[in-house]
Amino acid sequence: MSKPTKLDTKQHIHQLLDNYDNFLFDCDGVIWLDEVLIPGVLDTINFLQAQGKRVAFISNNSSKSRQEYVEKFDKLGFKNITIDIIYPTCYAAALTVKEELQIPAGSKVWVLGDHGIEEELRQQGYIPVGGSDPALDTEFDLDHQLLQVDPHVKAVVVGSTKKFNYMRIATTLQYLLHQNKSLPFIGTNIDRSYPGHGGLVLPAGGSVVNYMEYTANREFINVGKPSPLLLDTVLKHQGFERDRTVMVGDTLYTDIKFGNDGKLGGGNGGSLLVLSGGTKHHDLEELHTLDQSMVPSFIMDSIGELVHFIDN
Ligand SMILES: [Mg+2]
Repeated sequence: MSKPTKLDTKQHIHQLLDNYDNFLFDCDGVIWLDEVLIPGVLDTINFLQAQGKRVAFISNNSSKSRQEYVEKFDKLGFKNITIDIIYPTCYAAALTVKEELQIPAGSKVWVLGDHGIEEELRQQGYIPVGGSDPALDTEFDLDHQLLQVDPHVKAVVVGSTKKFNYMRIATTLQYLLHQNKSLPFIGTNIDRSYPGHGGLVLPAGGSVVNYMEYTANREFINVGKPSPLLLDTVLKHQGFERDRTVMVGDTLYTDIKFGNDGKLGGGNGGSLLVLSGGTKHHDLEELHTLDQSMVPSFIMDSIGELVHFIDN
């Protein structure tokens, strides 16, 4: 297998800047850990933008809407990050409902997930049901009205939720089984966990999506990384040339596979792994056991280091 190149000299970074015009970033574990900015990242993004590089952010986290991402970036000191370069999977899910599945505007969509999904569905003209409805916060009740399928629901979107309970999974299951499992089942992502602040590992959306896949015994449409459909959408929206684009992320089976399968970077390689999130230094010993699609082209300790190599 081809081994990743560790980028740890000024020369390496200059080569990276020569070879790529566009940088796609994952967020959790790359830009921040929960609400805490990873050191150096703000300077690095500012530096790249000042160099005329284009950036976009693709997060498998579906809990926040694009507008909330903008506010988070702003709060952390980023002043040039606008809504049109942010792709959380709640947005990807809403786009899929509209553009791929062509479900008519005004339809209801059942949601198991946090309010980011509801917000992005609303933005695309849909009526989210389920989701944050307080009626679902109650103890399980076999006679509850919400266990009766609403015939106006045309699709189901499942993502991460901090309000996972039996009422929510039982109601969602009714929609997934309805009419011989014919309602489209969209899953926001496949991530098992994500890195929190202080070394904490937390359950991510993929654990919820896979729970529902198992109980309904049917497959879902994955709209998150490494979906090639999502990459095509981002490249098209942004006008990014595939050969001049690289994906920066901390997760091998989502971010790195996304860049590699998407054939980013032409012959130069399309994926840069950072060790500031879920993947740790000792995990690199296992790289040779993995499918080539999950082996990064480049490795850095953190993207926050990039600007320091230029300074020194
Ligand atoms: Mg991540």
